[in-house]
Amino acid sequence: MVEKFNYNWINGEKVHTDQTTEVINPANGNVIGQVPSIDENKVKQSIESAHQAFKKWSKYTAEQRGDILNQWATNLLNKQDELAHIMSEEQGKPFAEAYGEIGVCAKFIKWNAEEGKRIYGEIIPPSSPQQRISVIKQPVGVCGLITPWNFPGAMIARKVAPALAAGCTVIVKPSSETPRIAIAIFDELMATNIDKGVANIITGRSSMISNTLFSDQRVRKISFTGSTAIGKTLMKQAADQVKRISLELGGNAPTIVLPDADLDNAADAIIENKFENTGQMCNGINTILVHKDIKSAMTEKIVARVQQLKVGPATEDGVQVGPLINAAAIEKVEKLVADAQDNGAQIVTGGQKSAISDFGLFYEPTVITDVKHTMAIAQEEIFGPVAPIVQFDTIDEAIEIANASQFGLAAYFFTNNVNTIYNMSENLEFGMIGVNGTQLSVPQAPFGGIKESGMGREGGHHGLDGFLELKYISLSLQD
Ligand code: NAP
Repeated sequence: MVEKFNYNWINGEKVHTDQTTEVINPANGNVIGQVPSIDENKVKQSIESAHQAFKKWSKYTAEQRGDILNQWATNLLNKQDELAHIMSEEQGKPFAEAYGEIGVCAKFIKWNAEEGKRIYGEIIPPSSPQQRISVIKQPVGVCGLITPWNFPGAMIARKVAPALAAGCTVIVKPSSETPRIAIAIFDELMATNIDKGVANIITGRSSMISNTLFSDQRVRKISFTGSTAIGKTLMKQAADQVKRISLELGGNAPTIVLPDADLDNAADAIIENKFENTGQMCNGINTILVHKDIKSAMTEKIVARVQQLKVGPATEDGVQVGPLINAAAIEKVEKLVADAQDNGAQIVTGGQKSAISDFGLFYEPTVITDVKHTMAIAQEEIFGPVAPIVQFDTIDEAIEIANASQFGLAAYFFTNNVNTIYNMSENLEFGMIGVNGTQLSVPQAPFGGIKESGMGREGGHHGLDGFLELKYISLSLQD
């Protein structure tokens, strides 16, 4: 057993525990490590350490905080290869994607390091000659940050960087599927000159950790990325103390292809998004809505590209589709595909588990046609390498189908008509819209959803706002 990353970081110290949890490689089921399963006392210690550290960290200048963040980004880039290997092995995403994700982490961190210097206040015209009104922005305080497994690096960087840049201190709780890469990324933060207690990372039973964070008055905010189901539970918990909460939840992104679009560009962009991270992406395309006039042509182009995808263990050269994260994930994909077939959909390519590993977490890249938007496969987040194609007749019908979802994270469409671009961008009920392309996650733009896809935004100055409180000061001048 490799005894690496088998600790948490609390108050600047490595913490080991007797109780541990195994971490496995989803490509073959091998145990690759053990991480602490901490108890409630240690969660409380992490809160106390973040609380004490806040007093000093919140008073540093933005430049001082930015220096620490920039050091962190540099450290990550210096170990990009090593970190990408750890991520691929633990999460299953192809090495090239994991390598790219470490680069994305560094970009997010550097961007926030700079944007922290632009946390400006306001001067507001008064209501009397003696009054002076100013508004300042101050860090929220201690923040609990709960992250998922699908982008186990980027989701941490996207929360920790704006929180620290804003002057908050943090306690991170990564997914128990991917704790080692989270700890490895944290090691690089701990290797900077950061003060003890400013950033803590803890692993263990998620409900106990989150209950402890929610019930402690010193924790002023929870930022959560994960499923809508857990997000709803946490939102209820936040009510007890009216604790600030932001939620980045599930998606079910529709993609609409119109007859005047460049179909090859659309097919390339759809494949790039749909099969990234083996389809396990919150803003990943769920269903492909294709106009009836181009259904055959578009299906052909998609199928041709899907059949070229290389499936295999993430660490093997040239692999584009890796294993799913766990048995529950593959069971869900199998169930949704079987339900679609039972209701009349046709499998054009793929449609079953891949025999590539005995461990059984690989699924063949799949295209299904004759899917109805009412089927479970179109309504639920598939989170797997399956592309269902739904036919539509008019733009209004496509918009109606897309908006009928409970989710509202991202939608994409392809057309070359400028009027249609405005019509669809304004009428699709989603937090993010991709037109003629499917890449959305950049540090300077507000990433996030509406409806049951969450509230709050990550990225841009909007991401920093999530870690800041407004304070209005009214000064009465003396005669
Ligand atoms: P999840 O099961 O909701 O877990 C997310 C995090 O919450 C993990 O750290 C998990 O810890 C923790 N958790 C689980 N049960 C909890 C509880 N009762 N109380 C507090 N925390 C709890 O989601 P996931 O399967 O990791 O991630 C996939 C989901 O995330 C998808 O729905 C995807 O769309 C969404 N996502 C959204 C965005 C976005 O920006 N909108 C980005 C990425 C992913 P344990 O693993 O230890 O249980």
